[in-house]
Amino acid sequence: MQKSEALQILEQKIARCSLCDELTEWREKSDWKTVPGVGNPNADVMIIGEAPGKNEAEQGEPFVGKAGNLLTKILESAGWGREQVFIANILKCRPPGNRDPLKEEADNCRKFLDMQIKCIDPSWILCFGRISSVFLLGHEPGTTIGSLRGETHVYQGRNVICTYHPSYLLRQPSAKADVWNDLQPAVFALQSKK
Ligand code: URA
Repeated sequence: MQKSEALQILEQKIARCSLCDELTEWREKSDWKTVPGVGNPNADVMIIGEAPGKNEAEQGEPFVGKAGNLLTKILESAGWGREQVFIANILKCRPPGNRDPLKEEADNCRKFLDMQIKCIDPSWILCFGRISSVFLLGHEPGTTIGSLRGETHVYQGRNVICTYHPSYLLRQPSAKADVWNDLQPAVFALQSKK
């Protein structure tokens, strides 16, 4: 089976998922879509964010709001077009009121994320923000993003970089240089592969 076909089947499963009562209830009453992820099924680089916001849930696509525009610029500055990478989130449904994902919700959604990672088979995973970093790598909830930055982690044999979330950069633009530095190991490794 082609990767794109496998991802499409997964998208359909995600759209029918009702494991999280509160997320399903809000999705249905607000007419929000599930947000499985978007991008190149053969990407070397996979981006993992936290959860869809309102714009994302309305459009069914991750990172389309202000933070999404900034993410696209960050990717471009690293030499990757948005369509070259695959972009997903820890949660595929929007938590109401923009609250943080609960551990139970992240656990419920984990199988979808793991299937996406297995199917796309990226060599680099970039976790944007504390929540995606902590959930992906299985750290204690109180772990700070500062303690996870600056080293390359490993998840299922893939390199993982943890850096600041674009929403944080909108409030703290001076941290953009830190994100650029954080991404350099992936930029360098993928440039040398060309
Ligand atoms: N923030 C995220 O973490 N993911 C999105 O898709 C949008 C905003």
